[in-house]
Amino acid sequence: MHNNHVIWHNVQIDRSDRNRLNAHRSGLIWLTGLSASGKSTIAHEVEKRLFDRGIRTYVLDGDNVRHGINSNLTFSREDRKENLRRIVEVSKLFVDAGILVLAAFISPYKEDRAYIRSRFADDNFLEIYVKCAVEECEQRDPKGQYKKARAGIIKNYTGISSPYEEPENPHLLLDTENLDLDSSVANILDLLERHEFIEIQRDTPDEP
Ligand code: ADP
Repeated sequence: MHNNHVIWHNVQIDRSDRNRLNAHRSGLIWLTGLSASGKSTIAHEVEKRLFDRGIRTYVLDGDNVRHGINSNLTFSREDRKENLRRIVEVSKLFVDAGILVLAAFISPYKEDRAYIRSRFADDNFLEIYVKCAVEECEQRDPKGQYKKARAGIIKNYTGISSPYEEPENPHLLLDTENLDLDSSVANILDLLERHEFIEIQRDTPDEP
């Protein structure tokens, strides 16, 4: 419930100050796609590469959210909404703190993704569709969840017994059936450079 008596404290240091200190912009990079499409694998690899470049990052994914702040939520439509709402608010705090957040969540509904986008300024947010056919995801099945979904042990499983609505206009589409991990990572780093979250890095130093 909204509390009208809570007043936001006047800040002396804001996001742009922190961005200046960090020498990079903060923002939310949202990866959507089926389970096992590669979201977490890609997000963690991008994080490693950014860390090596001195960029402050954090990966939010099901593992660190569903077991913690959202451990009381189920996969019903209502709870999925609340799950995302909390993730978005946590992301906003991270972004305000100067962090480049990589969020890896299936987020199957257009309506929910539109809501996420609406909570951030255009220059603070990028959506990446990690695309992979459900048949291939089922083959990969790194956690054995598709098997359980097929057997009816897990209900409402996205791609099997619950829909996934494809993004129509993502900032980037990564087809992980045809792109290897390195290429996906390179594509994201390039996207972050083009949108001026991070500085362009040349592979070879300039000639003196
Ligand atoms: P998600 O976070 O989307 O559920 P994960 O990253 O947890 O997916 O799992 C994806 C699985 O697919 C991993 O076991 C990964 O090694 C494998 N994989 C195979 N090919 C690729 C690829 N081209 N890009 C990313 N992951 C891939």
